[in-house]
Amino acid sequence: MEELNKNFIENFIDEDLSEGGRCEGMRVHTRFPPEPNGYLHIGHCKALIIDFGTAEKYGGICNLRMDDTNPAKEDTEYVDAIQEDIHWLGFDWGDRFFYGSDYFEQTYEYAVELIKKGLAYVCELTPEQFKEYRGDVTKPAVSPYRDRPIEESLDLFNRMKNGEFPEGKYTLRAKIDLASGNFNMRDPVLYRIRYIEHHRQGTKWCIFPMYDFAHPIQDALEGITHSLCSLEYEDHRPLYDWVINNVSVPSKPRQIEFARLGINYTVLSKRKLRRLVEEGRVSGWDDPRMPTLCGLRRRGYTAASIRNFCERIGVAKVPNTVEYAFLEHCLREDLNEHAQRAMAVLKPIKLTITNYPEGQSEELEIENNPNDPEAGVRKVSFSRELWIESEDFLETPVPKYKRLYPGGPECRLKGAYLITCTGCVKDENGNVTEVLATYDPDSRGGDPADGRKVKGATIHWVDANNCVDAEVRQYSNLFSDPDPDAADKDFISCMNPDSLEILTGCKLEKMLESAVAPAHFQFLRMGYFCVDNRDSAPGHLVFNRAVALKDSFKK
Ligand code: ATP
Ligand code: MG
Repeated sequence: MEELNKNFIENFIDEDLSEGGRCEGMRVHTRFPPEPNGYLHIGHCKALIIDFGTAEKYGGICNLRMDDTNPAKEDTEYVDAIQEDIHWLGFDWGDRFFYGSDYFEQTYEYAVELIKKGLAYVCELTPEQFKEYRGDVTKPAVSPYRDRPIEESLDLFNRMKNGEFPEGKYTLRAKIDLASGNFNMRDPVLYRIRYIEHHRQGTKWCIFPMYDFAHPIQDALEGITHSLCSLEYEDHRPLYDWVINNVSVPSKPRQIEFARLGINYTVLSKRKLRRLVEEGRVSGWDDPRMPTLCGLRRRGYTAASIRNFCERIGVAKVPNTVEYAFLEHCLREDLNEHAQRAMAVLKPIKLTITNYPEGQSEELEIENNPNDPEAGVRKVSFSRELWIESEDFLETPVPKYKRLYPGGPECRLKGAYLITCTGCVKDENGNVTEVLATYDPDSRGGDPADGRKVKGATIHWVDANNCVDAEVRQYSNLFSDPDPDAADKDFISCMNPDSLEILTGCKLEKMLESAVAPAHFQFLRMGYFCVDNRDSAPGHLVFNRAVALKDSFKK
């Protein structure tokens, strides 16, 4: 690879590929190993970029492997969703799709091999005793069954497999080092008994390998050269290497760890996200406030914006928390360039142009996207009755208010005409029900014929005689605490009670009537919105605010 600014993983790979290196002449081969016990979140996108992206940079390949070693809580729903999300992001594993559980047979054989070599033994400490015997930094662990004869361990392990013992009665442990400063090396458990149905293996197995034993074997069997994972596995690397070096696997992968992605105002752990779903605190894994890929997609995030975000934050060994505002910034950048503009009035009030002929209407041409010369213009109808945002009118203006009020400045209706507010109509309770204005017929398109300066604001509008109603959902952070993921915090109590605002009776430009997901729009002055991919239907349009216009990210 020729690039100058390489990350530390690439430096390791270069070293491995170099002359005399561990992988000289080999093709870089990585894997992405999600556990199918939940939906992928944006943290996984970082891992995907590292796994697939690194392989791609070196002209290598990347496997997708469902890490379904642990039989609990796994589901084909998740397996399917994970594949959909990865494809949506634009990564492809070709025909290299695997299940960790496909290797159960071989993994079992490798365990037998270790027993035969005197490197593993069947232990019968209860989980409580196990803890008690673990030792501490100054005191080595105690393992009374460590010297069990090989034949006896072989027999017991076989019988464990055959279902002769209850759960918890026996475990298989590696014989490594009871005094190791790394507790993962103090004769770790390799296999345990579990009577639980596996989503693919059914009831074939009642002993299951631990991740630390299964993972290096799976990597080696697939010919993975570089096993890239997040930092919490760093302390497990000695065990990873021990397994690779002590069983007769066909290849020797190398594990390299990187820092997990953390984003403020959110949690990135499937366990926590699952709780939000199961306790009904969000509407599902794809709730638009969730940091899951399906949630972000439904919210209006584009695959490009998420990838861009993950690429720009970079790969490092040191954990750091990224600002949520930066994620929003990346989306805004993408949509500012690509989203079609439209007008939508979210909190409408009627505006009547009193000098515009009753019953008349006309079509105006408005730019689809000022940032995209190719995007062209669209026709928007205009008539005497319009909808405008209720906040664009004040009967008594506040200081510096440049929008509509009786006696106020001339304002521009976007792409249409200049108008001057003349008054309003109120109901019996004194609430304003209609704003009145006159227009300058010589200002078609929004500019005065005589070149006079327009002192008021430009406001958006929708033709009340030709528009469509919609429900609009506006979101803010799911958590009001900047660090809900902190170990010492109860993340549920950090939740923002006002993270969803539902607006009904919003008035949209007619052309939005036929909008379907995943269409994105910039609603002028209001933000970027997309059609909700679950609840929107013809006759009942639902839009999600992906992100507001104002950028709070400080570069
Ligand atoms: P979670 O705590 O969310 O359940 P996990 O690590 O158990 O995460 P897996 O499905 O096992 O989830 O993850 C698959 C891969 O994605 C692993 O290699 C893991 O290191 C990586 N990964 C998970 N979360 C992040 C994150 N926040 N940032 C970067 N990589 C991550
Ligand atoms: Mg995991």
